[in-house]
Amino acid sequence: TRVLLTGGSGFIAAHVLDILLEHGHSVVTTVRSQEKANKIKEAHPDASEKQLSFAIVEDIAQDGAFDKAVISDPPFEAVIHTASPFHFNVTDIQKELLDPAVIGTTGILKSIKKSAPSVKHVVITSSFASIVNPSKGNWPGHKYTEADWNPITHEEALQSPPAGYRASKTFAEKASWDFVEKEKPNFTLSTINPPLVLGPIVHYLNSLESLNTSNQRIRDIYQGKAKDEIPETGTFLWVDVRDLALSHVKAIEVDAAKNKRFFVTAGYFSNKEIAQIIKKEYPQTKDLPSDSTPGGDYPKDGVYSYDNSRTKEVLGIQFKSLHDSIKDTVKSFQSVGA
Ligand code: NDP
Repeated sequence: TRVLLTGGSGFIAAHVLDILLEHGHSVVTTVRSQEKANKIKEAHPDASEKQLSFAIVEDIAQDGAFDKAVISDPPFEAVIHTASPFHFNVTDIQKELLDPAVIGTTGILKSIKKSAPSVKHVVITSSFASIVNPSKGNWPGHKYTEADWNPITHEEALQSPPAGYRASKTFAEKASWDFVEKEKPNFTLSTINPPLVLGPIVHYLNSLESLNTSNQRIRDIYQGKAKDEIPETGTFLWVDVRDLALSHVKAIEVDAAKNKRFFVTAGYFSNKEIAQIIKKEYPQTKDLPSDSTPGGDYPKDGVYSYDNSRTKEVLGIQFKSLHDSIKDTVKSFQSVGA
C-alpha cells in the first residue's frame, strides 16, 4: 500500500515507519525540514526512493499545509497522521497546542478530500487524553473503553499546558469524526488512542535533553532524579511504542478496523515499578530509589480499569511487558549517550 505518514521525525512515527517498511508498504513521510528528512534517510540506508521518500510540511497549523503533500505518484491509498505537538513547554496554548492539533487534523482531511480521492483509509493518532475524564480523578470502579470521551471545554483547555494538551487531542479527534460524518469523504477513519507511550528510541536524537515527553520519566529515574522521592505516577496506563506502531499499521491493513476507535493500552504501570525494573536490569545504575523510598506508587483507594479487548481482537496485538519495555528503553538511552 502507498502510505503518507505525517511527522516522521517523531518518537512514535519512527516506529510506525519501521513497521510500514517491514510490511512492504511504500511510504512518503512529512517532516519540517530537509535536515530531518536526511536523518531519517540515514537510518534507512537500504530503502529505495520508491520505498521511502519525503515531503516537507513546516507547520501543520497553516491553512492548506498538506495540499501538496497528499499528492503523489503513484497516488496514496492510506494516510497515517501522527504529527501533533506533545510537550508542555508553551506560552500560548491556543497557538502552540490547540491550533496545530485541530487545524492539522482537519487540514489534512480537507486536503485528502480535495486532492487525493485514491485514499481509502485514514488513521489518526489520538490519545487516552480524549477518553479520560480528569475531573473524576482516579475513578475507582470505572472501566474506560472506546465509548468514553473527555468532556473538557475550550475554557478549561486554556487553564494549563497539560489541560491544553489533553484538549488538543480531544478536539482534534472529535473534529475528525465530525468531518467524516458531515463531509462523507471517500475514506474511512480509525483513531488510535494510547495512554502513556514508553519504549526504545529509534528516531534521531542529538541528546537525551531533547527526549520525547512520555519517556522523560524513565530518563529522570535512570539519571538519579528519584533518589529521595519518586514522583507521583499521575496516569496509570501505558503501552509499548512498538505495539502502538503495529496497531497503526494493522489499522490500515485490517478491514474490520475501519470506522473504529482503538484504546491501545497494555495495562497498568507505576513510577515505582519503573525504578524497580531499572534496578534489576541495570544494577550498576547510581542513585536509584530503594524499595522504601516514598512516592510513585498506586493510589491506596484504587484506580480506574480499562478494556483493551478491541485492540487485541481486531488488530491482533499481543502487548509487551513493562519489564521488557523499560529494559529496552534504557538500553536505547545508553546508545544516545546517557
Ligand atoms: P514527538 O514529540 O516525538 O512527535 C511529535 C511529532 O509531531 C514530531 O514529528 C513533530 O515534529 C511533529 N509536530 C508537532 N507540531 C508540529 C507542527 N506545528 N508542524 C509540523 N509538525 C509538528 O511525540 P510522540 O511521538 O510521542 O507523539 C506523536 C503523536 O502521538 C502525537 O499525536 C501525540 O499526541 C500522540 N500521543 C503520544 C503519546 C505518548 O505518550 N508519547 C500518548 C498519546 C498520544 P518536530 O519534531 O519537527 O517538532
